[in-house]
Amino acid sequence: MKHEAAVSSAKEIADRVLAPAARENDKEGRFSSEAIKALGPAGLFGIMLPADVGGSALGPRTFAAIVSALAEADASVAMVYLMHVCATATIAAARNGAAVATTLQEIAAGRHLSTLAFSEAGSRSHFWAPVSRARRNAAGVHISAKKSFVTSAGQADSYVVSALSPQSTGPTDSTLYLIARGTRGLSIAGAWDGLGLRANASAPMTLEDCEVSPESQLTDDGAGFQAMLQVVLPLFNLGSAAVALGICRAAVAGTATHLKSARFEHLGQSLGESLPTLRAQIATMQIDTDGLAARIDDLIDHLERPRDTTVLRVLESKAAAGDVAIAVTSAAMRACGGAAFAKHMAIERLFRDAHAGAVMAPTGDVLREFIGKAVLGMPLF
Ligand SMILES: Cc1cc2nc3c(=O)[nH]c(=O)nc-3n(C[C@H](O)[C@H](O)[C@H](O)COP(=O)(O)OP(=O)(O)OC[C@H]3O[C@@H](n4cnc5c(N)ncnc54)[C@H](O)[C@@H]3O)c2cc1C
Repeated sequence: MKHEAAVSSAKEIADRVLAPAARENDKEGRFSSEAIKALGPAGLFGIMLPADVGGSALGPRTFAAIVSALAEADASVAMVYLMHVCATATIAAARNGAAVATTLQEIAAGRHLSTLAFSEAGSRSHFWAPVSRARRNAAGVHISAKKSFVTSAGQADSYVVSALSPQSTGPTDSTLYLIARGTRGLSIAGAWDGLGLRANASAPMTLEDCEVSPESQLTDDGAGFQAMLQVVLPLFNLGSAAVALGICRAAVAGTATHLKSARFEHLGQSLGESLPTLRAQIATMQIDTDGLAARIDDLIDHLERPRDTTVLRVLESKAAAGDVAIAVTSAAMRACGGAAFAKHMAIERLFRDAHAGAVMAPTGDVLREFIGKAVLGMPLF
């Protein structure tokens, strides 16, 4: 599949499957299995996988365009997809000897959804420092862990899980493992009832003495941290920025529709015709949204042609995108007034969904801490 076909397929699914169900799924906190059933068979699960396992070998440009198209219709589904692509990239980058070929083929065939289970109750948003530790015996390792938020919890076919290595000496000496759905000891540890992204099943999960074979160990002992930074972080930050962009585009479109259709009958004008202040607000929203799109294009260029400034761009993009999404959706709430507040339109869902980006790790605050250190030439960890 080529870039254009992948993006137009994502848009078609967003219009046909995601948009009509987004409001109800948000209200009920319901995971969209329909979205997964549409995205997988359309060939979108393996877009970045190599052709030899059935993937489309496409790059970050296609990934970002798909994510923003999905987020425009339903940010919860976009986040599920983003986590799946990050997990898939980690599985594809597995060390020699890991038995992942079948999983990758299943992903490319659209039959396998994966996700990341990094954050732990003990180390909270510091996902790079798991407090759980794997214990090794002759059969492999055993892991007990309290994972605090796992997108697609209970819905995914596999989980990319972090834990400290059996012989770890420092807080970042982690290892990544692939744990299949149904593994003994793996369970959902609570409900997901978030403020936003309510339809993405980000529940806590418990691992109780889960046995993992050596073939399901994705990285060498202690190499999990490098995989998190080199494989996951660039894609996750790009994808998070793309989710924010989709949310912003939907907020601009929803606000424009409202300002054109809602009327002051006593004045014989629409809101937009009547009030310059509303026109100024939607103009600022448009400027910020297009600015975010340009920032994402710049990040993609840096990922396609890595250079000295790439790490900084990776860090900046998610921090900036979180702020822009909150600002644009806040402006939309204000411009659409009581109609938005009374939930007559999708704006309030976008406003709630927009707030997830800034608190998902690496959080906007943590990114600022890293960026500040990088600018001052200090080590990040
Ligand atoms: C919708 C959703 C989906 C998620 N999905 C996943 C998933 O699929 N997989 C996964 O592994 N995790 C997932 N998470 C977890 C997420 O990545 C974070 O770990 C989690 O949101 C952190 O919340 P906390 O209360 O533990 O934050 P805390 O760590 O308690 O942070 C509290 C505050 O302190 C700030 N802070 C923390 N450290 C620093 C620092 N060093 N410098 C400056 N400020 C700092 C934070 O920015 C925040 O404002 C998800 C979270 C959400 C909300």
